[in-house]
Parts: sequence; C-alpha cells; structure tokens
Amino acid sequence: MTEPYVIKMPQLSDTMTEGVVVSWEKAVGDKIVRGDIVATVETDKAIMDVEVFRDGYLSGPLAAVDSTVPVGEALALLVSSADDVKSGEATTLAAGELAESSQPGGAAASQQVSAPESASTPEAASYTITMPQLSDTMTEGVVVSWEKAVGAKIKRGTVVATVETDKAIMDVEVFREGYLSGPLAAVDATVPVGGAMAYLVERKDQVIDEQAAPHVIRLAESSTAVVAETAAVPAASTPSVSVSGVTPAPRPQGRGATPYARGIATQRGIDLNTISATGPSGVIIAADVQRAQPAGGLAAAAGFPQVDVPGDGRPMSKLEKATSDAMTDSLSMPTFRVTTSIRLGGLIRASKAQGASVTVTIAKACALAMQEFPNMNWCYQPQDKLVERSGVDIGMAVAADGGGLVVPVLRACESRELEELNRDWKDLVERARKRRLKPDEYTGSTFQISNMGMFGVSHFDAIATPGIAAILAISADTEQGSPFTITADHRVVNGADVAMYLKSLKTLIEQPQVWMGSTGPAIPEGDWDYDVVVVGGGPGGEDCARDLAGHGMKVALVNDAPLPGGECLWRGCIPSKAWRAAADRIRDRLDDDHLGIRSGNSSLDWDKLEATRRKVLETRGDMALKTDKGVKIKYIQGFGRFVDGHTLFIDTSGNNDDPHTRAQVADQPQGENVSFGCAVIATGAPPFVPPIPGAIEGLGEGGGVLTSDTVWTLDKLPKKLVVIGGGAIGLEMAQIFQDFGAQVTLLEAQDRILAEVEPEIAKQLTAVLNNDPRLTVHTSVQIERISGSAGAVSVKYKDQDGKAHTIKVEHVIMGTGKRPVLDGLDLGKAGVLSENSVIKSDARCRTNVAHIFAIGDVIGGLMLAHTAAQQGRVAAATILGEDMKYEQDKDCGVIFTRPEAAFVGLSLEQARAAGVDAVEVKVPMNIDAKAMINNEQHGMIKIVADKKTQRIIGVHLLADHADTLIGEAVMMVSGNMTLEQVGQAIHPHPTQTELFGELARRLSSRLRRSARVKAK
Ligand SMILES: Cc1cc2nc3c(=O)[nH]c(=O)nc-3n(C[C@H](O)[C@H](O)[C@H](O)COP(=O)(O)OP(=O)(O)OC[C@H]3O[C@@H](n4cnc5c(N)ncnc54)[C@H](O)[C@@H]3O)c2cc1C
Repeated sequence: MTEPYVIKMPQLSDTMTEGVVVSWEKAVGDKIVRGDIVATVETDKAIMDVEVFRDGYLSGPLAAVDSTVPVGEALALLVSSADDVKSGEATTLAAGELAESSQPGGAAASQQVSAPESASTPEAASYTITMPQLSDTMTEGVVVSWEKAVGAKIKRGTVVATVETDKAIMDVEVFREGYLSGPLAAVDATVPVGGAMAYLVERKDQVIDEQAAPHVIRLAESSTAVVAETAAVPAASTPSVSVSGVTPAPRPQGRGATPYARGIATQRGIDLNTISATGPSGVIIAADVQRAQPAGGLAAAAGFPQVDVPGDGRPMSKLEKATSDAMTDSLSMPTFRVTTSIRLGGLIRASKAQGASVTVTIAKACALAMQEFPNMNWCYQPQDKLVERSGVDIGMAVAADGGGLVVPVLRACESRELEELNRDWKDLVERARKRRLKPDEYTGSTFQISNMGMFGVSHFDAIATPGIAAILAISADTEQGSPFTITADHRVVNGADVAMYLKSLKTLIEQPQVWMGSTGPAIPEGDWDYDVVVVGGGPGGEDCARDLAGHGMKVALVNDAPLPGGECLWRGCIPSKAWRAAADRIRDRLDDDHLGIRSGNSSLDWDKLEATRRKVLETRGDMALKTDKGVKIKYIQGFGRFVDGHTLFIDTSGNNDDPHTRAQVADQPQGENVSFGCAVIATGAPPFVPPIPGAIEGLGEGGGVLTSDTVWTLDKLPKKLVVIGGGAIGLEMAQIFQDFGAQVTLLEAQDRILAEVEPEIAKQLTAVLNNDPRLTVHTSVQIERISGSAGAVSVKYKDQDGKAHTIKVEHVIMGTGKRPVLDGLDLGKAGVLSENSVIKSDARCRTNVAHIFAIGDVIGGLMLAHTAAQQGRVAAATILGEDMKYEQDKDCGVIFTRPEAAFVGLSLEQARAAGVDAVEVKVPMNIDAKAMINNEQHGMIKIVADKKTQRIIGVHLLADHADTLIGEAVMMVSGNMTLEQVGQAIHPHPTQTELFGELARRLSSRLRRSARVKAK
C-alpha cells in the first residue's frame, strides 16, 4: 500500500488559524478525483469548500462535523485503493497522529472522543455551546455574562456570553443557528474547557428555561467514549479514565503527543512543551504527562510548605490565581540581579519629539541591544534545554481596571519601526486595562519590562517567571540616572552577559539620536546670519528652502545662476520634455491613418521649437524666483564654498545674466562670507564624460562632442548622430532626435540598456527602440576613439564580436551619466566627508557633521528631480526636529521614451534580494481596448507584491502614458496598499487604470488558490 495522503485543514484566509468542519460532501469509501470538493469548512470569514487535488478513496479517521481543526492538521485520509479505506471518526487529531495511526504495523489508535454530554442535555438540543479554550493554558472559565437570553434566536457569529479566562474576559461566539436553550451555566459558574454552557435547539417551543446544576457543568468524568493510548504504551500504564469532552491540549512544538496524553494535559493544566517524552519516536504519552507536575503546583510539589494562615480567605479571582501560580513557579528559577544607572533625559526628549511612549522606546532599545546579546531573549526549557529565540516579544505590565496586572506582549520589537510599535502598544494598553486582550496578545513574551519609575519608585527588582531568561525593572530617573535592574535566570545567562547587555542598553538609551534619528531641532545655538544656508537652487535646494521658510526659519538660497531651477529646469527635465513634446506630435501623426485621419506629413521648425522651449524655461525660472522671494527666502546669486563648519563664502566673480548655461567662477574670487546654523548642500551633479580618447577634447568650442549641458546650444537639427550611453538621458535624446528625423546610433558598453530598470521592461523597450526606423541600438560595444569637429565627427568602436566599425556623424551626445564635482566646495573645511565622488548622507539626509545636510544628485543614488525634492523636504524636516526619512524602496521614475518606461518600488529581483518572499503578476498592453484604439499596444504592466502581507511593493510599466499611470502606482506603494484594497477600488472605464484593479484581483486570487493547494 502506498502511503495515504493526508487531507488537511486548508488555510483559506490570512487570518485563519483553524476551521470548523461544516459538512462532508463525500462519504468514507467514495472515489475522489482531482478537484473534487470533499468537505466544507467554516473559516473566520465564510464557509468554503475543501478541494482535493489528488485521486484516491476517502478514508477515515474523519474529523467529525462540527469539530474544530487547526490549519494544517488532518481532516481525513486519501488512500490509493478501496481495500485500504478505514472508517471511523476523529476529532482534532493532528496530521502526524493520523499518519502514524495509518502506518502499516504502526500504533493503532481507536480515538473516539465524543462531544460533551451531560445528564441534563435537552433531548431537542441540536448543538452544545461549550466553554471554549481561549488560551493554551486555559483549563476552565468563569461565566461573566450572558449576552443573549434563553429563547433568543441565535445567528451565526453571535456572541452569546462572555467568560473570564485566567487572563482576560472574552466573548463566546456561536457559529450555528437556533434558539438559545438551557440548562444554562449560571453567571459566575466555573465551567471546564469543553464543558457545556448552554444549548441550541431548532424551534422556539423546544427551548428549556433552566439553569444547570453546578455538578452538571463540571467536566464529565465518565463517558461512553474511551480514548485508548497507542499500542506503543505498555498496557499497565494505560489508565482507564476517560477524557471525553476535553479539548486536547495543543501539540508540543516539533514533537508528537498522543491524543490521550493531550487530553490529560488539558485536565491537569500542563504545557506539553515543558515535559519529556518516552513514547516511540519522541512522542509524549500519557505516562509522561502523569509524571509531570501541573502549572502552579511545581513549588508545592517540590516540597515548599503550605503554611496555614489564620482568617477567612476569599477564593482568588482567575487573574489573581494566575499571577499567584506564575509567581510560585518562579521559585523554580535560579535568578540573580544586576543594576546599572541609565540617564533617560535624551530618550524622553526623543520619544516626545517622535510622539512615542517612553516605555515603547525603551522596549525597542532593549530589543536592539539583544542583537549583540541574543541569549537575553532565550529561555530554559525542562529538562536541560535552551530555547533560542530570535523574535523579541516584550511583555510589559499594565494595571487592569479594578486591580491586578496584565502583561500585553509587544511583538517583533527587533524588526518593527518605533512608530508601528507605538501604535500597537497604545491599542494593547487600552484593551489590557479593560481586560479585553486575546490570549495571543498576553502570552509568549520572550523578555519582560516592568516600569515603576513613573510612580517615583527609587529602586526595585522584578520577578522572572519560566519562559523568559530576564526581566527588566526600571526605577525613577534621578540626576545619576534611573536604576535599571535585570533579574536573570543563571541557567541561560551569566552575570557578565547581563552586565555587558546593560552597558550596550545604556549607550542606546543615552544616545538615542544614533538609532532614533531626529531628536529635536538641529540648529545649534548661535548668532548666525541665517538659520540655514542652502547651497544649490535646483529642485532639491528649492524644496528644502521653501519648507524651512514656511516654518519661519531665516533661510538663504545660494545658487550660481540668476534664476533658480537648477539642472532640472535649465538643462534637464523641462527642456528635454519640451523636445519630447514636439517629437510626440510628429510620432502621433504617424498613427493618424490608423484611425482614418489624413493629416499629411509633418515637419519641424527648429527655431520655433527652440524659442518656445526657452520661453517656457525663462517663465518658469522667473516664477520660481518670485515665489522664493515671496516666501521670504533670501536668494543669493554666487558660488558657495565652505570656510569652516559655520561659514560659507559666496563667490560672485562668475555671475552673469544667462540662466541657461552653467556659471564659471573667475580666477579672482570676490564676494562675502555668511554664517549659518545649519547648511544643506544641494549642488547637483553635472554630466560625467568618461576618459574615451577624444571625448574630453571634443567638448570645447567647435568640438563635435555634446553633453546634456551643451546639447541645448545646437543651432540647427543634426541629421546624423551618435549617442553614447543607454541610460535614461541617452535613450530619451536618441529617440527624440530619431523622431525629429535624424539617423541615430546608440552605443552602450554594457550588455543591456537601462541597467536600473526592471529587466523584462528594459528588454521589451530595447526591441521597440530597434524597431524605430532611424534608430539602432548596439550593446556590449567598446568605444575606441572620437575624433573630428562639429559637423564631421568620427566614432570608432568594436562591436560585441570584436569587429571594428567607424561611424561618421555630425555630433556625438554623451549620455554617460552624471557625477558630482565636489572640489570647489571645500568640504574639508567644514569636515564633511565624501566617498567615491558623492557626499555621504543617511536616510534623514544628515552628513557626518551633525548640522550639515546633503540632498539630491550630490549624494548619488537615483539622480532624479523628485528624489532631490523629497530629500530636500526630509532635510528640512530633520532640521526642524520632525521625523521623516527618505525611502528609496518607494521612490519612482519615468523614462520618457515612446512607449515610456516607469517604475515605483522594487522589482521582483530586488525584493527577493532583500529577503522578501515576493511574487509578480503582469499584463501586456495589447489586450487593452484603449491601447488598441490608439495603436499603443507595446509594453506591459507588472505588479510586485509581498506574498505574506499581500502589500504592493513595486509596479513597473512600459506603456504610452506611463507617466500618468505611474501616479496611481505611486499611491499604492507609498500608501502600503494591499492587493485587496487595489482590487476592490472602483476604477473608471474605459481607462488603463482598470488594469491595476484587474491585476491586483488576479494576483490575490492566485495567492489564495496556491495557499489552498499548499495547505494540502
Ligand atoms: C537631459 C536630462 C533630462 C532629465 N530628465 C529628468 C526627468 O525627466 N525627470 C527627473 O526626475 N529628472 C530628470 N533629470 C535629472 C534632474 O535634472 C536632476 O536629478 C535634478 O535636477 C537634481 O536636482 P538637484 O537639486 O540635486 O541638483 P540640480 O538640479 O543640479 O541643482 C543644483 C544647482 O546648484 C548649483 N550649484 C552647484 N554648485 C554650486 C555652488 N558651489 N554654489 C552655488 N550653486 C551651486 C547648480 O548650478 C545648480 O543650479 C534629467 C537630467 C538631464 C540632464
């Protein structure tokens, strides 16, 4: 017989952890073919089909209808032949157990666990409402309230009662329909997990209005159904007691346990993770559980005397008893204490500036310090084992309303941002006070913090309990600092570990700016001419200066041109898009015929285009200067260079009236010194010309080599061109001139163009460009020499096979990238460091000098105008003491070719390289009606999503109008939107934005299906 296939409870939603078997659509022994629906299960959201993608025969043990089965555990078996079919029903048996039980010669299990029944179960009862197990440790609950009265009509999902567990008050939901019937467990009655609380009947006249007698709601101790141990357990050790009606305790991590052992573990409140196994293959059997001591009883069992105390004690509440048990258990730990004083002032200020709770900020610091000392996060596990944990889940005590302490757990403190942790903590605290936490919100901490400093306590220590290695007690802040005392388990950490951990924690807490970023305004005290001097008036400098001025800062904007705007306005984005607009008109005419329009041949009037281009630039430049002055920015024309850390010399010797070209400073400097509190360097990056023989020589007057700085000086349209470099600037130029009518050869040294663009998009764009009639793209070439002068230039190169070529053209345009020129800035005098020709700055745009910032092209990375502008706003925010970071993973770009290539966020490759389990979905543009109508069918749209969170982390387009389409994609990525959100948004028809919704729904559905298939 081949091994049976286990049909498991599939995970049908993100949040689903278990499902209820609603029906079996096939009977035991039925032949099953791929795709058959064998059962339906109820998830936390809906009733869904369980499909099987195998052939075989349905075999027991079958999970009973109504039983709750955890995701991934067995519902039934599929066997290969009808002869192998077994009948029988199971409850929540784990897949491993079922598989074990069906192995040939393996332990035979006759597991029959019945639903709890009692003497007073009404005859007409269609369903028993039982005490749910709401936490791993819960063995019984107290009925706090009935939310529905006897006789009330109950719908699926109705909360019928609330019960008190050992930690919180929680809702009891019912996923059936019927009428609520007695006998009803009384308010305040203690009902064991799995014991009956009430019943549902089908008709109102069947309702019994009675309260259950206390003995009836106790866990039944005898039952018709008996759970037998596996055959591997010696007969003598097989107890004859029943665990009918008991929800088996959760399986221990990574090990097996027999159902009977799990039943007894529930009864005795024993965590199966804490005991040793003697069963076959390490399976925990009943005898193991019987040998183990129940929670809370350890110390008593170890012989601690229970001293008789006079008086008439009241029984402890659940919460009090849970605390008492935990504290008694702590006596089993060999602990020691270490104290150090830590000054909290800086951290309190930094927390305030970022709107974070000081306790959460300390928790984050504790988690960061554990990166160096991970054993602070481990724990001892009986017998003689250490549980090594990487996720730092910090429990912090909160006083509950009405007394008692609840310890909500702030998860993943090591990896989540402070802002997110803070948001989570706020919510946890609010609900903890009202004791409305769910079990997984207050269990399983890996480290704990108790902060009594806020009560002015001068010194205290806290008690560590099993499951953690250390607990931190924080006392009140004094001039010497606040005593931080760690109580630690010596089996896990030693004194030196804790001492060094505290030392590292002290550094993190006393120097929060190192890891928290902005901790308040950055402008140092002083009598400065300007609060901030911004050097460079491009998009980066301008946006920075405007934000600062808007916040009342005294700002000077120093720029070596009569008008602001920088490269973007005068030599980059705007002029190139003026040319692109003209090229678009010419190109669109070629498609007129497709729609039956006869418009004739178009021709370009170069002088007219140039006049329009210059007019646009000058108008925009004028407007920008007026706005700058209007918001009270002091615009100073001149070239800035540092004199020292707080002084800039503004050299006006090169000033001229032409904003279109880069200014050159004269040999004899002249100008003025200005002092500043903070400086922002935003000086951009001019075109870079590599050392190709003849290239630099060709740049001079009369030479045939142009760059993106000088191409604007062309007085007529060239007929033949070579463009060197297949980046965005080179490609845009090459295609514009081909559209204008020139013959263009693009030469690229690398084996592909657009190295920074998503590979499939770049590949498709290469094919499209090569289809343009007057444009040829050659990759993997080696350029040997450029010679000649304007109008007659020769370019010698070798192709990828090493074959030599010479092309004769009128001009060569260098599109070989941009590189900052730092020499003139005298950065050394201000102590600012650079590396590989760019200024080093962090995500908050800070250089190595605390009050000097750098933004835009001068810091490298994506050299784009909107990137520079965003970084300008980040620098301004940091100077103002606000919390803002530049996130490259959410940045975007457009390459203005036809079709346009555009991106935002990560590609699949980049996401996977960053460790994200990512997936992509794509659609070609040629299926779109709008694209067909306009004859714009080239290209595609791709969405990249994180499988786990289903958030959209990247969108990549090759499409006409991608510059507009990318806007919606930017909102998806920057707004952390999920596939579901985008899929559910209503997109207007007929537009290409509909494709976003379609793609999101498609990927969502695929992920859902694959999760289902995987779950099997
Ligand atoms: C042909 C071309 C097309 C482009 N197209 C696009 C596009 O479509 N989209 C896009 O996002 N980006 C585009 N870019 C890139 C964009 O122009 C730059 O990324 C952007 O201008 C960078 O802004 P910045 O503020 O860092 O620097 P810049 O815009 O370069 O501004 C820096 C300013 O500082 C001045 N300066 C330098 N040193 C000093 C000093 N010591 N003292 C005083 N002033 C100084 C400079 O003269 C300049 O005015 C294009 C670039 C080119 C060349």
